This record gives sequence, structure tokens and C-alpha cells, in this order.
Amino acid sequence: MTRRVDLRSDTVTQPTPAMRDAMANAPVGDDGYAEDPTVNALEERFAQIVGKDAAVFVPSGVMANQIAVRVLTRPGDLIVAGRGQHVVSFEMGASARNSSVQFATLDDTNGALELSDVLDVIEAEGDHQPHVAMVAVENTHMPSGGTPWDVAALRALAQAIGGRPLYLDGARLFNAVVATGTSAQDFCAPATLVMTCLSKGLCAPVGSLLAGPAHMMEAARVERKRLGGAMRQAGILAAAGLVALDTMIDRLGEDHRRARQLAEAFSAAFPESNYDPATCRTNIVAFNHPRARQVVDELVLRGVEGGTVAPRRVRFVTHAGVSDDDVAYAVEVLRDFRPSAT
Ligand SMILES: *Cc1c(COP(=O)(O)O)cnc(C)c1O
Repeated sequence: MTRRVDLRSDTVTQPTPAMRDAMANAPVGDDGYAEDPTVNALEERFAQIVGKDAAVFVPSGVMANQIAVRVLTRPGDLIVAGRGQHVVSFEMGASARNSSVQFATLDDTNGALELSDVLDVIEAEGDHQPHVAMVAVENTHMPSGGTPWDVAALRALAQAIGGRPLYLDGARLFNAVVATGTSAQDFCAPATLVMTCLSKGLCAPVGSLLAGPAHMMEAARVERKRLGGAMRQAGILAAAGLVALDTMIDRLGEDHRRARQLAEAFSAAFPESNYDPATCRTNIVAFNHPRARQVVDELVLRGVEGGTVAPRRVRFVTHAGVSDDDVAYAVEVLRDFRPSAT
């Protein structure tokens, strides 16, 4: 039997034994009455970690993004965001469907947005263009290969857009924290609202958190209800989230170290991709290849499972389920791998 190293996504992570214990023993109540002590504790903990007034526990990262869009925009508004960002490209058009907004999409090949590109869209309001209601960024930025933002660039962006809200999709915020040494508070200070996923590298089974000013979090609870995301004895899930925040952040560094080892191996195996392994700073190896789907299909047959995130772009993600042995195996496979001639 071929070995299987699952590098498709950090969403495949399993809850830890400590999480299962905490879930079994969590005190719970009806969160519709704000009476679930475990949900309340999780929301308070996250708000404190990111330096915001309050937070709301939601079923998924997509819902956190969609609630943020509903809170910060009016129908017909424009959102400035990078072309590859999740809220633009990986949510089935949800922002259009749920909030009747449009995106002005900017180049985000290297993860960050160019300040001048953002300011051009805002200035175009004067040329009969829609109102720019918010700017959205992603940290880490998935499609560029898990690239963390530079906090100085984030501050400069927030400053330059004046009173307009900056939204931080921090699905992998803690990967950025671990990779850069910038604190979560510092990363989130320039942003009006911030979200993170508990169910990716942090290994919780379900859930994301959205944080921001108290009055916006009240509005967020209304939007969560409208989207069908209000839950009841959700402390069962929040309990795992607390374990995730308390114990699973520091270990992300191991995922980053392993991803870099893989990045070196991929770079050597695919010189045609001109992939610079030094650009792999967190847990995502992503690069362009003219036959990306074929590469993925043929590596699966050898037990190295990845995916594509665009027609000619492959992605391999490390997470708590990937060991040093797994990486060594994948490196071995890559050593003599060539895509077959078509
Ligand atoms: C995964 C992800 C989301 C969505 O989270 P789900 O829990 O899968 O809905 C949003 N933004 C980014 C950057 C992500 O990687």
C-alpha cells in the first residue's frame, strides 16, 4: 500500500484528545440568550487576544467574512480587495448574493495590496464610481503561498484610507503571528474588524471568530441570525476553540519549518516553475506550473496529496497531521519525480 501524506489543506486537521475532553465536559447554555458560559469565554478570550471590544463565535470563516461585509457595507457599495483573496474568489459569489456589493479587485500576486492601487480606486469615486465602503486584506494571504503582511504596510494602508474600515481576513492570523513575531494585537490594531479560523492549523473541529467594536458586534449578531448561523449549546464547539487558542498556536512554527523543507524539494523538482522556496514563510507551498493538474494527479498516485487553487497553480499545505517522517517521504518522492510526457 502506498503511503498517503495529506497536504491538501490545514482544514483536514483532527481535534486533539484535549479538545475532545474539553468538549465532553464543557458547561453549556442557550447562546441565543447569551447563556453559554463556554461560548462567552471563547468570545472574550479572542477579543482580548486581538485587542478588540468584543467578538462573535460563528460556524465558519466564510460566515465571518459575510457578516463583516453585511456590517460594513450597503447594497451597491464597492469593496477593495486582492484578486485572489478568499472573500473575492472562494466564496461562490457570496458577497454579491448576500450583500449586493461589488469588488474592485487588485493585484495581490505577492500577498499584499499596493497602497497606490487602493488609493486609485478610492479617488475614482470622483469619476462616477461607486462608494468604496471598505478595504479587505488577508493575513496570511493564502494564494500567494501563505504570505504574512508586514505590519508597517498594514498601518500605512489603514492610515491612508482615512476613516474607511479596513477588514482583516485573518483565517490564518496566528500563522502570521508565529512567522513574523508581530503580536495578534499589533496586526489587528489597524483593522476595524478581524476574523480568524479555529478549524485550520489550530485543529478545532468547527468555528471561526469575528471581533471588533461593541456596536458592530451587536450588528454582527443580527447578521449571524439572518444568515442562519446563530447556535444554541455551542459551548461544545467553543470548548475546543479555547483549547485551540490556549495550546495550539506555538506549534504552528513546526508546520512552517516543514513547509519550508517541502518548498525546497518542490523548487528542486520543478525548475520550470522558478519557485523561490524562501517565499514560503508559513505553512503553504504554492507555485505555478503549466501542467498543475497533471502534477497533482501524478503525485497523488505516489502518496503525496495536494491540490490546485487556480488553473496553473498547485498548493501543498502542512498541518498538525503531517510529521517529519511524512515530509521526508514526500521529499523522497519528489527527488525522482517528473510529470509524464503528454
Ligand atoms: C478557509 C478560509 C476562509 C473560510 O473559512 P471556512 O471556515 O472554510 O469557511 C476565509 N478566508 C481565508 C483566507 C481562508 O483560508
